[in-house]
Amino acid sequence: VASLYLDQVVQSLSAAGYTVVSYIFPHGEDSKSAETLFRVYDFLIKEQLTRSDFIVALGGGVTGDLAGFVAASYMRGIDFVQIPTTLLAAVDSSVGGKTAVDLDEGKNLVGAFYQPRLVLCDPDTLATLPPEQFRAGMAEVIKYGMIGDEVFLNSLLARPAAEHLEEVIAACVAMKRDVVSRDEFEQGERRLLNFGHTVGHAVERCRGFALSHGEAVAIGMAVLSRAAVDKGYCGEETLTRLLQALQQYDLPMETDCTVEELSAAALADKKRSGDKLRLVVPERVGRCRIETIAADSFHEWLKAGGVQ
Ligand code: NAD
Ligand code: ZN
Repeated sequence: VASLYLDQVVQSLSAAGYTVVSYIFPHGEDSKSAETLFRVYDFLIKEQLTRSDFIVALGGGVTGDLAGFVAASYMRGIDFVQIPTTLLAAVDSSVGGKTAVDLDEGKNLVGAFYQPRLVLCDPDTLATLPPEQFRAGMAEVIKYGMIGDEVFLNSLLARPAAEHLEEVIAACVAMKRDVVSRDEFEQGERRLLNFGHTVGHAVERCRGFALSHGEAVAIGMAVLSRAAVDKGYCGEETLTRLLQALQQYDLPMETDCTVEELSAAALADKKRSGDKLRLVVPERVGRCRIETIAADSFHEWLKAGGVQ
């Protein structure tokens, strides 16, 4: 996003008396790598940054995760500020202090819990976001409604989110802040934020990342909610309202990955602990529970969720 927003941020910081240097790297998940990380360290050393300086992450989740981990590790930690410019980064990745880079073996394998000093979100930047990126962020927005707030989910159904973005982002950030402040290191409640993600990550793996993360999460929420109805965790109308929201925001609800493909992919995922798997299961709109299941019963959940 350097071509769109860097000048403005540099001018603003300079006017406030800061000396600013910028490191720009190519967009895309490929940049969230150890290679970029070491290039940024080299740059910071060359520019003689010390612990009295701070880092600003200007961009989407890739930039935030990478710059956050730089800040967590450079000189044993220097301050950092998030300026999220995607909907996903605004409602999700910029809040909560998870930072990481990917390795060849998998995503987010090296990282740290490291809180930013400030998250500065300007919803006007989302005006330049490609529509598919906006939709991907909406999957996480809908997730917040499903796990924590029925009134909020209804507001997404009643009125397009794009018409009241500030409120929508603020509501999601407040929910994430509250969950994270009660369970920063994901020992319990924070796991609710993984609703749709166990199946979602499996879909991402089996489709070789041809789908966006948000689309995969949308499918994951739909599959788990269908299974929850089938298994008596929630009523039909919980599923109906989720599907309405996904449809309204143009998100997919089905996958052509098979039960076998998804089971294999999910069991290879790091979120598994031993032979158990943790699923986030809806009980009604606005409330989900964490259910620990035997890994070998996961294929039944997928079948109940409508996967062929
Ligand atoms: P991204 O950072 O790759 O951004 C998506 C694309 O949009 C990029 O091409 C980017 O250049 C472009 N873009 C960004 N802002 C723009 C704007 N305002 N106008 C036009 N184009 C713009 O993707 P993302 O979806 O923001 O983030 C995904 C990453 O976030 C993944 O690496 C994921 O692992 C991570 N993530 C982290 C957390 C966390 O808690 N730390 C949570 C969720 C996701
Ligand atoms: Zn997600």
